[in-house]
Amino acid sequence: MDGSLSVKEFQDSLGEGKLKGVRCNHCGHKQIDILVFCPNCGKSNFSVVEFNPAGKVLTYTIQHVAPEAYLKEVPYAWAVIELDDGVRVTGWVPQVRTSADLSTGQRVRLARSSKLGMLFEKI
Ligand SMILES: [Zn+2]
Repeated sequence: MDGSLSVKEFQDSLGEGKLKGVRCNHCGHKQIDILVFCPNCGKSNFSVVEFNPAGKVLTYTIQHVAPEAYLKEVPYAWAVIELDDGVRVTGWVPQVRTSADLSTGQRVRLARSSKLGMLFEKI
């Protein structure tokens, strides 16, 4: 599929447990984001690509205070995750109360979610 990624398409893909992003057709830079210009080369010519939804936790913070949509989920981890494709994303991992519940390096995979944001579960 050619063209840039829309917010709706991105959210719809998350609802299906898929992770879509863009690849710059000029330099090959890949990013999971809604981009107008490539941060690497400044061009504006993208293809929508699907990323491998598995990766590992690099670091995280535990959230005890959450926006309304997540009130039933606290505490959870807000994590920086490096996907197997080498792209870093931020997402949340449920049911993390203390640092004993989640190790850095833990393998995770994108899970289906109707909420905003990327939900990851341990694998
Ligand atoms: Zn580029």
